[in-house]
Amino acid sequence: AEDVGGGDKEVVRDYFNNTGFERWKKIYGEATEGVNSVQLDIRLGHAKTVENALSMLRDGGPLAGLSVCDAGCGTGSLSIPLASEGALVSASDIAAAMVAEAERQAREALADRPDIQMPKFEAKDLESLDGKFDIVVCLDVLIHYPQGKAEAMIAHLASLAESRLVLSFAPKTLYYDLLKRVGELFPGPSKATRAYLHAERDVERALEKVGWRVRNRGFIRTQFYFAKLVEAVPVGLA
Ligand code: SAM
Repeated sequence: AEDVGGGDKEVVRDYFNNTGFERWKKIYGEATEGVNSVQLDIRLGHAKTVENALSMLRDGGPLAGLSVCDAGCGTGSLSIPLASEGALVSASDIAAAMVAEAERQAREALADRPDIQMPKFEAKDLESLDGKFDIVVCLDVLIHYPQGKAEAMIAHLASLAESRLVLSFAPKTLYYDLLKRVGELFPGPSKATRAYLHAERDVERALEKVGWRVRNRGFIRTQFYFAKLVEAVPVGLA
C-alpha cells in the first residue's frame, strides 16, 4: 500500500526511539568501533549532504541571527554547526530519544561557546510545527513519507519559511527504484521502516503548487547513500 495512514508515523516514531535510535546514533556518530563498512559509507554520504546544505545556506549570506527550523533534526548533525555559526535554531524530531541525543551533543559541542545561542530542542512531528522562520531545513526525512503525504508535508514546511527551504530526499529514478526493489528482496533486521523514494519532478511540483521555486540543486552519492538536495525560494524572490 502506498498510503499506510496514521499507523506509519507511529511505526517511525517507535523505530527512531528504539532500534533506529541506536542504529542512526552510531551512523551519525564519530566512533568507528562496531560500525560496519556500509554504515561508514552512509555516514560519509550523510556528512556530505550536511556539508552541502550548509554551503548552500551560507551562499545566501551570513547565518548569524537568522532563525532556522531544523525539521526532523535527528542527532543534531545540522543544528549544531548552524548554531555555532550564530543561527537561532529550532530543532525538532518526532522521536524524543533523537532530540535528547541532539541536545546532549549540542551541549558538548557548544560548551565553550558562551557567545552563541543553544538550539531550542523539541520532540514534535513535522505536522505540528508552527511559527515562522527565515529558513526551514529538512534533511533525509522525506524518505519516511509516501508521495501522497510528501506533497502536504512540503507545503507545510514552505508555509513556515520566510525566505528559504532546503530539502534532501532519496531520488526516485529507474536505477534507484530497481536498487531499492533488489534491496527489499533481502530484508535485514535494520530495515524496520519502509523507505520512499521521490522523483525530483514531484518534489519540484509540490513546491511550485505553493508558490516556491527551486533555485539550487545538489546530488550526493557514495556507494550506499544517495540524496538530492534542493534549495527553494518563494517565486518573486531572487
Ligand atoms: N535530519 C537529520 C539529519 O540529516 O541528520 C536526521 C535524518 S534521519 C534519517 C530521519 C529523522 O527523521 C529521524 O530522526 C526521525 O525520527 C525523523 N522523522 C521521521 N518522521 C518524522 C516526522 N513525521 N516528524 C518529525 N521527524 C520525523
